[in-house]
Amino acid sequence: MEDRQFGRLRFICGENYGKYPFNHSVYIKGSEARIIIDPACSLEKLTRLRDQEGVDMIWLSHWHEDHFHYMYLFDGAQLWISETDFPPLTDVEIYLNWYGIDDAKIRTYWNKLVHEEFNYRPRTSANFFPINEEADIGGIRVQTIATPGHTPGYLSFFFPEEEVLFIGDYDLTPFGPWYGDAASSIEETIESIRLLKKIPAKKWIACHEKGLFEENPGRLWDDYENIIYAREKRILDIVSGKPSTLEEIASAWPIYGRPRKPLEFFEPNERVLVKKHLERLQKNGLVVKEGDKYRKI
Ligand SMILES: [Zn+2]
Repeated sequence: MEDRQFGRLRFICGENYGKYPFNHSVYIKGSEARIIIDPACSLEKLTRLRDQEGVDMIWLSHWHEDHFHYMYLFDGAQLWISETDFPPLTDVEIYLNWYGIDDAKIRTYWNKLVHEEFNYRPRTSANFFPINEEADIGGIRVQTIATPGHTPGYLSFFFPEEEVLFIGDYDLTPFGPWYGDAASSIEETIESIRLLKKIPAKKWIACHEKGLFEENPGRLWDDYENIIYAREKRILDIVSGKPSTLEEIASAWPIYGRPRKPLEFFEPNERVLVKKHLERLQKNGLVVKEGDKYRKI
């Protein structure tokens, strides 16, 4: 994989195929500002970019740490994000709450992780994107597209002149979509996937793994959405065998498929994703909760 230039937009390939804790970033030379979107691709590349070409603005698609990883390199740059997704960047306690982490030990683990590995520094102010509007920001025309689900204030970016759509964490990976935070939503994720699928782009840029799609992803959008239903089916199969607690269901790893390490990281992830599915299954009348056990109706 290599970096690619499309008009004024550059796809910057992340380390290890942009797998967490890295991503793929985008650099734009607008006529009024030099912009980096989601600066988490590579310390080396971003340092070079800063020193040789310059960065005036940071755009974040959302608040997750694998997107702001190297934001600290660009201290003087203006930060742009949706107003909805800004609160976790102002205070680490809000950050942990938004992940829905209650357990004191796991909070301590995450607090240390975001500070030490991801250089978390609380921000007091930011510029907020207009939502679902075509705007000129930094001398580049961009259409902001509210695509909640992954996070509530998630933004995708369409560049009409370049016909490039930045889909970010709706990343079309075989793992499937993430909707495990306190305020994530499976329903909104499905709607956002369907909305993005309809945008008439010529190139698509995602933040992880393959990253750059120069052909219409087509069926991949459906495959990606269908992963949600496959996860749901695995959970339903577990609770139809025997009523089970959230812990019991999560310990069968219906999302990740197998135990993943470090457990402090993946166990809570598995649990929150399973919990989201159980809430949806209850809402849709497919599962009932009796005491602390879930049972298929
Ligand atoms: Zn994310």
